[in-house]
Amino acid sequence: MSEDARGCSNSSCTRESCAGCEHSKESMLEQLNQYSSIKNVIGIVSGKGGVGKSFVTAMLAVLLNRKGYRVGILDADITGPSIPRMFGINEKASANELGLLPELTVNNIKIMSVNLLLDKEDSPVVWRGPILAGTVKQFWTDVVWDELDYLFIDMPPGTGDVPLTVFQSIPLDGIVIVSSPQDLVSMIVKKAYNMAKLMNIPILGYVENMSYVKCPDCGKEIPIFGESKLGEIAEETGVDILGRIPIDPVLASLVDKGEFERFSCDYLSGAAEHIEKMYEKKV
Ligand code: ADP
Repeated sequence: MSEDARGCSNSSCTRESCAGCEHSKESMLEQLNQYSSIKNVIGIVSGKGGVGKSFVTAMLAVLLNRKGYRVGILDADITGPSIPRMFGINEKASANELGLLPELTVNNIKIMSVNLLLDKEDSPVVWRGPILAGTVKQFWTDVVWDELDYLFIDMPPGTGDVPLTVFQSIPLDGIVIVSSPQDLVSMIVKKAYNMAKLMNIPILGYVENMSYVKCPDCGKEIPIFGESKLGEIAEETGVDILGRIPIDPVLASLVDKGEFERFSCDYLSGAAEHIEKMYEKKV
């Protein structure tokens, strides 16, 4: 079949850009590393940076790992990689003749991040979009993940070129959209929602981070970023809210100590159950 100017050979496709066309989506998918087998790939997405995407990625990975599943985290947030730090991983990744080897957390979650490849973790990554996207693709094609039940991908923030390429290159089974209350005002959640829809990727649900702060004296929940509008958006878009996380100083300190795996809160237990149920037939 010959391809037209958009690179699409599906004659019935009428899209201006065929990013959402099944044919072009399939043809752009990268091949998983031949020594890896991954049952479920879940992307954690946000319309902009700083809302806690890495935080939610790490929390879901730990919760599924605690349920006994084999879990990995692919840190695709190349310019703001924070996953290794959260788990206290300082070693550099190694490689053998089969490919690049992920580092292991205390409880054996497999991690791959650009920070495991840089000489110094505080070196800035000043690469152009195609190189950033190419690095993420290599984390899929060249990393020996071995067998995983769940791979969580901490996606690049936003809805630009790099996240778009990742969406097209890696076969995601579903995404979780993370937002914070103030984030909603600017319709940023809807941008992430619309991008996933365009790419035909199932949206598992929303997680609201930094929803409130609990007063340490009286226990009252204070919505410091204002009242949430996520309920309205969930209804409008027909997508479930999987959980809400407050700003929690205990969690912040675990992040700083590189001991995130030790958290004991249950803010996302329902979300983890949802992900487990949704895929348990496949696992
Ligand atoms: P993103 O991945 O969206 O850029 P991060 O997950 O790196 O955002 O979060 C930004 C910062 O805020 C990190 O230092 C993280 O530890 C902190 N943080 C995120 N969510 C919370 C929370 N609910 N409670 C306390 N600290 C948080």
